[in-house]
Amino acid sequence: MASATTTYRSFNQAEETMLREQRRAWQWQQLQALLERVSHNEFYRQRFAAAGVELRQIRTWDDFSTRVPCLTKKDLLEDQKTYPPYGRRLLAPEQDLAQAWITSGTSGVGQEVHALSDEDVRRGAEHCFYALTWAGMQPGDLNLVCWPVATMAGGLVLSEALRRFRAHSMLVQIFDSKTKLERMKTFQPHYLWVTPVYLTRLSALCEEMNFLPRRDLRRLKGVFISTGSYPIEWAERMQEFWGAPLYDVYGTTQIGTMFGATCEEGVVRDGKRGCFHFIDQWALLEVIDPGTGAPVAYGEEGDVVVTTFNRIATPLVRFRHGDRVRLLPPGYCPCGRTGPCLEAGTIARYDDMIKIKGVNVWPDATDAVLFSYPEVDEYNARVYVDQHAGREEIDMRVAFKAGTDLARRNQVLAFLPEQLRERTGVSMTVSEVTPDQLERFEYKALRWTDERITGLQKVKFKEKS
Ligand SMILES: [Zn+2]
Repeated sequence: MASATTTYRSFNQAEETMLREQRRAWQWQQLQALLERVSHNEFYRQRFAAAGVELRQIRTWDDFSTRVPCLTKKDLLEDQKTYPPYGRRLLAPEQDLAQAWITSGTSGVGQEVHALSDEDVRRGAEHCFYALTWAGMQPGDLNLVCWPVATMAGGLVLSEALRRFRAHSMLVQIFDSKTKLERMKTFQPHYLWVTPVYLTRLSALCEEMNFLPRRDLRRLKGVFISTGSYPIEWAERMQEFWGAPLYDVYGTTQIGTMFGATCEEGVVRDGKRGCFHFIDQWALLEVIDPGTGAPVAYGEEGDVVVTTFNRIATPLVRFRHGDRVRLLPPGYCPCGRTGPCLEAGTIARYDDMIKIKGVNVWPDATDAVLFSYPEVDEYNARVYVDQHAGREEIDMRVAFKAGTDLARRNQVLAFLPEQLRERTGVSMTVSEVTPDQLERFEYKALRWTDERITGLQKVKFKEKS
C-alpha cells in the first residue's frame, strides 16, 4: 500500500518487486556459481577444508548457513599479511585491477585492502543508481560531497556513481566547515552528502553564521547521511532545519557499493523510522544472532553477514561485518519493495559497545538522550577507574549551542543524569564545557573514550567456532 502523498520512483521495478520465491531461486543459481568459482581458489579451498565442508554437501540454504563458516576481518587481515598485498583470496590477475580500497581502520585491529577490477568499479558505481533514483536525483543535479574521497570505499564509490549517473559532484571535504557552507550558498547544490555527526556540526555553525538552509539553499532536494545512527527527533529536526528530506545509505568496503538505501519515504516519516531496502541480486544478506550464529526473527537485532555475487576480484563468502542491525518484517515500508529491509538510523558497530559496570552501553543510546535536546551542540564521554574508590566512573561533558541561556542549560544539565541512567542502566556525571573544549568529528563520531585498565576494554563477541 503506497502513501497517498508519495510518488514512488523505481530504478528497476521488476527487481525491486520480485516475489520472494523468484528471488530465492535466482540467488541460489548465483550462489552455486560463486561457490564453484571460489572452490578453485587456494584461500577458500583451505578454509572449507579446515571446516570439513565439501561443496557437494551444500544442497539447501540451510546447508549453506550452517556449514559454511563466517569469514571475519581477522581472516582477511591474516591473508593479506601472509600474502601481500592482496592476499590469496584475489581472484583476478593483477593486470585487470583498477583500484584498491583501504578500510578506515576505526576498529583499531588493522586496515583491510580490497582490490577491484575495472568491471568491479563499474558495477559498484551503477548499483548506487537505486539509491540515487529513489531519492529523486536526476542527471544534471549537483552534489556537494563532504565525505572523504581518498582511499576509502564510500567516497570513491560515490564519486564514480555520480559521474556515471551524470549528476555532477563537488568534492569539498578538504575545506573547513565555514568554507563548505559558503560553497553551498554560492553553488546551490541539489544534494548534500554528510554524516549525521557532521550535519549536527554544520547546523550549529549555520546558526552562528545566520545561514538558514531553508531560506538560503533554494534547490536542495535531499541530504544523504551515512555511517552513523541517530534519534528520530534529531532526523525530524534536521529535515525541518535544512528544508529537505534525509536519505541514508548502507554500504561497506567489503560489499563494494551502497548495498542498501532508504526509499522515497526517507529516514523518518510521521515519527516512524524508515528502512534500508536491499537489492539482493547484488549479494546475499543474512542477519544472525551474534552468540549462536542462527538467523534472527523479524523485529530482532543481529549481525550482518554478506555473500557477494557481483564482485570479481575479491568476492566474499559469508563475511561477518560486526554491524548490529534490526531486521524488519516484509511490508514494513509502504513503498511495496519486496527485498529484505533493515531499520534505518539504528545501525551500530558491535565493537562500539562498551561494557560499564557489567552493563552493555551503546553510544547511540546516549546520543539519543543528548540530541533529543535541540540546545545540545556536542558531547564527549570518558570511562575511567576512580583511583581511590577503584570504581568505574563515567564523566560526560556537554557543550550547548550559542545563544542557549543559563537557565535552560542548567535545566538540561539537571535532567540528563536521570535520563541517561534510565536509558542505559548506568550512572554518569554530567558537566558543561564550552564548544571549543570538545573534540569535533567530520566523518565518524568517536565520542567515547575508554581509559580503564586492560581487561575492562571494549567487549567483543566471540566468533562462532
Ligand atoms: Zn520503502
